[in-house]
Amino acid sequence: MKIDIKKIAALFLLKVCFVSVSLAQVEEIKNTIQLNEIEAHLRFLASDELRGRDTGSPELDIAALYIAEVFRSYGLQPVQGAEGFYQPVQLIAEKPPAAATFAYQDNVFTLGEDLLIISGDSTEIQAPVLYANYALPEDLAKLDIKGKIVVAKAGTPEQSNPQSFFFSSHDKQVNVAEKGGLALVELYQSEQIPWSILVQYLNAEQLTLYEEKKEQEIPLLWLNDPQEERLSTFQDKKKGEGMINIAGKESTPIPAKNVAAFIEGTDPNLKDQYIILSAHYDHVGVGKSDGVQDSIYNGARDNGIGITALLTAADYFSKNPPQRSLLFLAVTAEEKGMLGSSWYANHPLLPLDQMVFNMNTDGAGYNDTTKVTVIGLERTTAEKEIQAATEPFGLTAITDPAPEQNLYDRSDNVSFAAKGIPAVDFAPGLTAFDQEIMKHYHQVTDEIETINLNYVEKFVEAFTLATEKIANMPEHPFWKQGDKYESAGKDLYGK
Ligand SMILES: [Zn+2]
Repeated sequence: MKIDIKKIAALFLLKVCFVSVSLAQVEEIKNTIQLNEIEAHLRFLASDELRGRDTGSPELDIAALYIAEVFRSYGLQPVQGAEGFYQPVQLIAEKPPAAATFAYQDNVFTLGEDLLIISGDSTEIQAPVLYANYALPEDLAKLDIKGKIVVAKAGTPEQSNPQSFFFSSHDKQVNVAEKGGLALVELYQSEQIPWSILVQYLNAEQLTLYEEKKEQEIPLLWLNDPQEERLSTFQDKKKGEGMINIAGKESTPIPAKNVAAFIEGTDPNLKDQYIILSAHYDHVGVGKSDGVQDSIYNGARDNGIGITALLTAADYFSKNPPQRSLLFLAVTAEEKGMLGSSWYANHPLLPLDQMVFNMNTDGAGYNDTTKVTVIGLERTTAEKEIQAATEPFGLTAITDPAPEQNLYDRSDNVSFAAKGIPAVDFAPGLTAFDQEIMKHYHQVTDEIETINLNYVEKFVEAFTLATEKIANMPEHPFWKQGDKYESAGKDLYGK
C-alpha cells in the first residue's frame, strides 16, 4: 500500500497540536502518590493541635518544621542564601493609634468616629489645607502643595469602589510626599463597605511587611464623607489651617518564615529555568467559641490541600525530576495580605528572571469533584498543558467562575505575576461561590472530617502532572498577548 504523505503530515500536525500525555507518567504519578500519604499530611496540618496555623503563633512554626522535614526526607535541597530550608520574613504588627484627630475650621474629626489612620506614625502637624481633586499626578501638577495638608477624594474618576481606594492610596501618598506635602487626607464615600465595618477592620492590629521606613513617608488618613458635605467644605477656596494629631502608635516585630527547597532539573540547557510551586501554609487561627463547635479554624481546604499538593509533588519529583528545575515555596501570612509571597518576590533567593512559571495552589474549597478550577488558566500559554494534565484523573480544568471576585489578585500567584512571571492558581473545583463553598470557607468546619480524600488524591495528582508538563515544555510558557502582566514579563525576561 502506498504511503499517503499528506495523511502522515496531517497526523503529525495533529500530534504536535495536542499535548501528548504519556501513560507511563500518569501511572508513575498514581503509583507514587498514595492516599495514606495525603491523609497523613492533611491530618497533621489541619489538626486541632496546630490551632489554625495563625501567623505569629508557635503552631505555625511547627507546620513550617513539618514541611521542611518532609522536603528533607524526599532529598530536596535547601536554596543557597536561605537559613536551611527557611527564609526569614520580616513582619511587623502595627497597633492602631491610641488617639487621633484632624481639626479644620470648626470641625474636629476623631479616630474611629469619622477618621481612620491608614498609615503614619505618631505625629503633630499644623499646616495650611489644600484640596487637590483626586491627588493624582495631573491634579498635583498645577498645585503648590509644599508644606501643606492635602485633602482629596479617594479612588480615581474611573474607579470609586473601596478596593480601588486601597490600590490608589499608596501611590498618591508617595506622590504627595515627593512634592513636599505633609499629609494626605482622603474623603471616603462608599455604600459597598459601610464606614462602621471599615473601622472595625482597619482600626485594629494589622500585620504588614517591614520595609525600610522611607524618610518621606507621610500620614495617610481617611475621612468619612457619606453625603459629600465635607467635600464642599474643603473645595471651598477659603484657605485655612488644619491640625493633625496622631498619638500612641506602636509596632512590634513578628517572627515569620517561608519554607523553600528545590529539585534540580535534568536537562543541562533547561535546568537554569525554574517552575515555582507555591502554596501558603498559614490560616486564620482560633476564633471565639460559640459553645457548640470548637473554635479552631483548621484550614484543611485553605490551605491544607495546597500544602499537601506541594508535599506529594515533592515526593514524586524527587524520584522523577523533570527537565527544568523546581522551586518549592511554602509561604507564610497569605491570610494577612499575601505577605510571605510578597516578601519572597521582593527578596528572591534565586534570580527572578530564571523563574519561568508559578504554579500556585490555594482555594476557597470545592463544590464540584469532577473539576479543578485554574484561576488564570486562559492567561498563559500553558493553558493546553494544564487542561491535558487533568483529564487522565477524570477531572476537567475550568477557568475562573467568578471574575467579579477578583480571585486572581487574592492569592500568592499575584505576587509573582506582578513581577512578570506567568502564574496561575490551581484550585479545587469551584463553580460558584454557593452555599456549599461558604459552608466551609474560613469556617471552623473546614476540617479533615468534611473532606473528600479521594477527590484530593485526584487533585494533587493532576497538580503534579500539570507541573511536570510545564517543566518539560520545549519553550517556557509566557503571558498571552494583551495580558495585564505581559509588559512586566517582557521587562523581566528582556524580550
Ligand atoms: Zn488560602
